[in-house]
Amino acid sequence: TDPALIRNFCIIAHIDHGKSTLADRMLQITGAVEDRQMRAQYLDRMDIERERGITIKSQAVRIPFTALDDKTYTLDLIDTPGHVDFTYEVSRSLAACEGAILLVDAAQGIEAQTLANLYMALENDLAIIPVLNKIDLPAAQPEKYAEEIAGIIGCEPSDVLKVSAKTGEGVEELLNEIVRQIPAPVGEADAPARAMIFDSVYDTYRGVVTYVRIVDGRLSPRERIQMMSTKASHEILEIGVSSPEPVKCDGLGVGEVGYIITGVKDVRQSKVGDTITSLADPATKMLAGYQEPKPMVFSGLYPIEGTDYPVLRDALDKLQLNDAALVFEPETSAALGFGFRCGFLGLLHLEITRARLEREFNLDLISTAPNVIYRVEMEDGTEHTVTNPSEFPTGKIASIHEPVVKATVLSPSDYVGQIMELCQDRRGSLQGMDYLSEDRVEMRYTLPMAEIVFDFFDHLKSRTKGYASLDYELSGEQESDLVKVDILLQGEAVDAFSAIVHKDKAYAYGVEMTKKLRELIPRQQFEVPVQAAIGARVIARENIRAIRKDVLAKCYGGDISRKRKLLEKQKEGKKRMKMVGRVEVPQEAFISALSTD
Ligand code: GDP
Ligand code: MG
Repeated sequence: TDPALIRNFCIIAHIDHGKSTLADRMLQITGAVEDRQMRAQYLDRMDIERERGITIKSQAVRIPFTALDDKTYTLDLIDTPGHVDFTYEVSRSLAACEGAILLVDAAQGIEAQTLANLYMALENDLAIIPVLNKIDLPAAQPEKYAEEIAGIIGCEPSDVLKVSAKTGEGVEELLNEIVRQIPAPVGEADAPARAMIFDSVYDTYRGVVTYVRIVDGRLSPRERIQMMSTKASHEILEIGVSSPEPVKCDGLGVGEVGYIITGVKDVRQSKVGDTITSLADPATKMLAGYQEPKPMVFSGLYPIEGTDYPVLRDALDKLQLNDAALVFEPETSAALGFGFRCGFLGLLHLEITRARLEREFNLDLISTAPNVIYRVEMEDGTEHTVTNPSEFPTGKIASIHEPVVKATVLSPSDYVGQIMELCQDRRGSLQGMDYLSEDRVEMRYTLPMAEIVFDFFDHLKSRTKGYASLDYELSGEQESDLVKVDILLQGEAVDAFSAIVHKDKAYAYGVEMTKKLRELIPRQQFEVPVQAAIGARVIARENIRAIRKDVLAKCYGGDISRKRKLLEKQKEGKKRMKMVGRVEVPQEAFISALSTD
């Protein structure tokens, strides 16, 4: 394809602002997908994506379009994930485009993540086409939000296009604007091949499918290629484009977007952001911006049925084929048995992984409270990286460091007070505040990551009646006054309940956990103290009083079959008990204590 007739673009939008619907409409209007094959949310492949209405993996699709100048263009739409956990994938998809549609719901206005992605697109020098969607809605305020957007990107309110992805109104004009405003790709056709990987997905039948954007040169079938970050080499078995179903072709040239298949079985061999070159005639310089995906949030995953452990291990292996960011290693807990300590990009990534494990592999799981990575410096000069609170070092600690994020909150200005209160409570410090329009404000905070990963977003939403939106990015670490709180049953620490918390919050955590456990653990033959402690210092205590429980006493000696039934029931109950020292704890108690709220 002549690069002059190619336009590579993506859509930047907040969740629910209509990105998938707009993509559907583009496919339909241009005839890329026949009407009878059309189904809603064509590009959202994974079931969980469709259910939750979010796009997890980016996808590419080729749309042929005959513009007003009667030439037929190749429009490549690169779909980007909309959630903050997947920022790195967004940045890679942006790097594969020359332009972006900034899509904003005409009844909602712009949201924090959209703004963050917009800034990322501007940094990548992308041409921006501002578009208001859902103008068919009675609640739409296109004039108001056109002005807001114009203020942010520095254009005229009249430059903001107005469409309805639902009815199709304005979509053809938008396609023409893409051709007119977004530059054609430029690259050197005769140079050694360089292609950027912006996505890679595992397919059960075809192995890893790698989505690439060719920058220079050409890639062809049967050619041997090399991954520039790892030097691993593979043969291209198939090369093609998504139209949107995969269609083989005889090679991809400058500016083209498509997929390659090499027969590798694991996405970690084909990493997002890496540069592919030809093995015979390699390029010397990688394309900019490659980053290893780095897990930020850790949690222990345990099967509720101990016998499911091998199933869980196989399931994690399988998920990892499709998820280069997922890491795990075996872990044992006195309370929960055998499981895995897993690392995730963020809380959503954790939730999605857990949901997939439960659904696709039919597992029932317990996950321990999520925590971030801590760096602990000891007085003897050694250093520890802690991803599991129960592995917190003992000995003389010089300092503890925790990751911090730069957070942006966009909200109607009525809620500024509530937001400040929440951020203060979460140890945040205000960095700046700007009015986007008369009644909407942007607030910038530095916050410890640990304070965000748990339930910050839920609280933000409930304090602002759902109107505020949040975005954050990692921004180094800070030294903090953190302590490890242990929960002890009869003097024995229960590993699954240890937590690293700020000194000022240790007491509250201790009181809450000891209260919860006192209620959840049944009385034993002896008194059981439940304590929260920092090192040897007890900060909270509850007692579970002793009882002498003889279930048979109730039967008055008479009815034998009833007696037997009771005995059996008691035995069954015992199976689900875990011993912590001499204390019998029903598994349900652990599960309830670990579940949030
Ligand atoms: P995404 O999360 O950005 O991919 O958003 P979707 O495309 O899934 O759309 C979110 C919701 O908005 C769905 O219920 C769509 O039917 C609806 N929607 C999308 N575009 C329009 C539109 O132009 N008008 C109306 N009324 N609803 C729309
Ligand atoms: Mg979508």
